[in-house]
Amino acid sequence: MSTVKIAVLGAGGGGSQIVLQLANMGVKHIHVVDPDNIDESNLNRQFLFTKGQVGQKKVDALSKFINDRDSSVDLTISYRRIRTVQDALHETANCDWAFCALDEPPYISQRIVNRACYLQKIPSVYAFSSRDSAKLFFVHPGKSGCADCLLLQNNSDGFRKMIVGLQSSNFTPMTPTISPNMTLEASWIVRRWLDDFLNRKNLTNILFRFDFNRMEEDPFKKFKQMPECPTCGESTDKAGDDLWKLISIK
Ligand SMILES: [Zn+2]
Repeated sequence: MSTVKIAVLGAGGGGSQIVLQLANMGVKHIHVVDPDNIDESNLNRQFLFTKGQVGQKKVDALSKFINDRDSSVDLTISYRRIRTVQDALHETANCDWAFCALDEPPYISQRIVNRACYLQKIPSVYAFSSRDSAKLFFVHPGKSGCADCLLLQNNSDGFRKMIVGLQSSNFTPMTPTISPNMTLEASWIVRRWLDDFLNRKNLTNILFRFDFNRMEEDPFKKFKQMPECPTCGESTDKAGDDLWKLISIK
């Protein structure tokens, strides 16, 4: 635990609390990436940040918060916006794990991180939330399905219509609006990550969902490695072209 190096991509409500909980658990090497400044509208759910820090970079405020609590944590920061696979490769290089806590552009940022982690053969965790629930899945390159496999399995007319809807509206992620839900979500994610990290359970090929109304984890939804996956598949079949055009990555 003290030697593992983790990249956390995104320092918003989810990412910042994941960093805090990893540090509390004894993770000593964390690299956190986020280009955004703290906005007053973030403060209701991002309790690590204060009113006096509005306008500062999120990663700067987070770094100060973690260092004030425990100066033995080696936390490095980056202001890079992850727009390409190359960006994600750069920010996850030399890391043992990556947490993807980015939610925009929808699906594209996850695809980029997934591709980079697959190329570097490092395991990754994907967390995303809506007002009513949080979702989570793990990818172990070469051993499990990946984010593109999951997308390919969800591909349908309805799914593509929803993506077009997200892209044409001014998409604002509906994250849990209250701070306790955000904390609960981060605890759930980090606890599940620990299960995986310590090999307590096989958590691959599962989409986890936590329901904020019932305050419990739902039954698991399985997915699988897809031979036609553009990231981890080997088949030359061009399945899903209509989907990949909508959420293309470079
Ligand atoms: Zn795949």
